[in-house]
Amino acid sequence: MRPGGGSFPTLPAGVTVVTESAGGGYPLHQHAEWTVAFPWLVQGTTRGGAGGLDMGLFGAVPAAVALARWRQLREGLGMPGVVHARQVHGAAVVWHGCLPPGLMVADDADGHGTAVPGVLLAVSVADCVPILLVARTRPAIALLHGGWRGVAAGILEAGISLLTEQAGAEPELIHLHCGPAICGSCYEIGPEVPVALDIPVPAGQSRLDLRAVIAMRALAAGIPAHRISVSSHCTRCGGGQFWSHRGGCRERQLSVAGIRC
Ligand SMILES: [Zn+2]
Repeated sequence: MRPGGGSFPTLPAGVTVVTESAGGGYPLHQHAEWTVAFPWLVQGTTRGGAGGLDMGLFGAVPAAVALARWRQLREGLGMPGVVHARQVHGAAVVWHGCLPPGLMVADDADGHGTAVPGVLLAVSVADCVPILLVARTRPAIALLHGGWRGVAAGILEAGISLLTEQAGAEPELIHLHCGPAICGSCYEIGPEVPVALDIPVPAGQSRLDLRAVIAMRALAAGIPAHRISVSSHCTRCGGGQFWSHRGGCRERQLSVAGIRC
């Protein structure tokens, strides 16, 4: 529950810890400060509305039920279009222009970006980190699925580069939030993880705060600490507010981001 609190690595100085609170007509755990700072932004993490969250695209839910749930999500958030993809723990981030109303499923990708109002970006997570990048000048956004493999492959840097290339966003003006994910006290790792992430690990250390790693990489990429925040929510030890893969759950929550119409 305490990112950086005694876990490894230490959360960089100046990075804010926030506790998203549930709210809205469609239940979303939202970054409260961002709802004020970015009133044009739809953002948050949800376990779904009435009927649950399993959107069924890659599971056992009947297609008609799954599609109805995606429609419920779009209508509940007032967003005509939503994009999702089969997530493969890679570093591919897809940029989206205008879309027809409805659900669009992209080819294998773990991140999405857009500057078009009405396009809702969606990634599913259940311990991995949902990473939201916001460039307020244009505005433009990117939403990434950050597990250790994707972070090691460079998905954060790919998302930042995409915002720079597509929307002219300077890294020092980008805001970043790491949403609900497994905390550094709960996340046991094997020796291959720090090797892939290229971080030195103290002897005997077998747990990792991936959100702290992401914050460190964001700093290295040019995002200032005062624009970086991490959620205090742990999917594993947080009292059941969120699904946890390590906790034995098969379900996943959905993190979403979009620019209001
Ligand atoms: Zn935990």
